[in-house]
Amino acid sequence: MIAVVKQSASPEQLQQFIAWIEGRGFKTHVSVGEAETIVGIIGDTSRIDPFLLESMDIIERVQRVSEAFKKANRKFHPEDTIIDCGYGVLVGGGHFQVMAGPCSVEGENLLTIARAVRAAGATILRGGAFKPRTSPYACQGMGEAGLDLLCEAREELGMPIVTELMDPRDVQTFIDHEIDIIQIGARNAQNFPLLREVGKTDIPVLLKRGIAGTIDEHLMAAEYIMSEGNEKVMLCERGIRTFETRTRNTFDVNAIPVLKNLTHLPVIGDPSHATGYTRYVRPVAYAATAAGVDGLEIEVHDNPTEAWSDGAQALTPEMFADAMRRISLIREAVTAEV
Ligand code: PEP
Ligand code: MN
Repeated sequence: MIAVVKQSASPEQLQQFIAWIEGRGFKTHVSVGEAETIVGIIGDTSRIDPFLLESMDIIERVQRVSEAFKKANRKFHPEDTIIDCGYGVLVGGGHFQVMAGPCSVEGENLLTIARAVRAAGATILRGGAFKPRTSPYACQGMGEAGLDLLCEAREELGMPIVTELMDPRDVQTFIDHEIDIIQIGARNAQNFPLLREVGKTDIPVLLKRGIAGTIDEHLMAAEYIMSEGNEKVMLCERGIRTFETRTRNTFDVNAIPVLKNLTHLPVIGDPSHATGYTRYVRPVAYAATAAGVDGLEIEVHDNPTEAWSDGAQALTPEMFADAMRRISLIREAVTAEV
């Protein structure tokens, strides 16, 4: 349920109202917007009489929110959330960023790749140190040594880093390395204890959609993180499993405007895992951009045939630079005043 507070309400009246609601065992989520202030009420709101709230001086109107996701719901927070990822990099609310780098952190070539993607306009460096591999015999990533390399690259280039966390026992290691953005991978999209654990940090989270996850399941995963207090969640569309076999996954371009409508959280497109093949990555990156994403995550490798993982979908630095020029033209077209 949301209660829209009148413009004329004083901060004290608002505080009194919140205390009154919380005193009845509900949680609240306050969104102070330019036009209106909204108090989201979370809990079994069937116990609340909306007419009683509407009879209060400071309440403009009351509306039931039928969706199961509350904190992620745009009704609770009409304005776009803008996430500060550090180094002056903002995502959402008109701030568009590209995250790029190798699938796996492999060694010193991380710096070569990082310099190239930075020069082409990427603002966030990606690279997996803990890799979720389908086979337990496949390379599992460099682990903590990979985090150290990411930190070195961050230091040199002055850009935030995003890397995947798979195990709640590694949260402290991520905090110690001051990882700027925690990625939760598609395979862990419904790992609820892990989602709760990252929800207890205040580190921005890049939350992938589950392998065959619905949009609502994606939003509920975000809700798990937010319900623990961390509201800095970016949703990532990375393709879903369908009956199609010509591509690794099927990029759900519909999900972009649908999510933008349902939630205030930023939406990121990942054309690399969505397609699985280098030749399809750029067209799908352009489609995602045109559909209104707040950013992209793209895998780039200096020598794709030698990559430890996902070489088949990596762009070379040259391809990435070409993509960045076109992405910027598409952004201009879709954000232009016409
Ligand atoms: C990745 O980003 O390298 C990755 C494993 O992504 P996903 O979880 O979307 O498969
Ligand atoms: Mn990958």
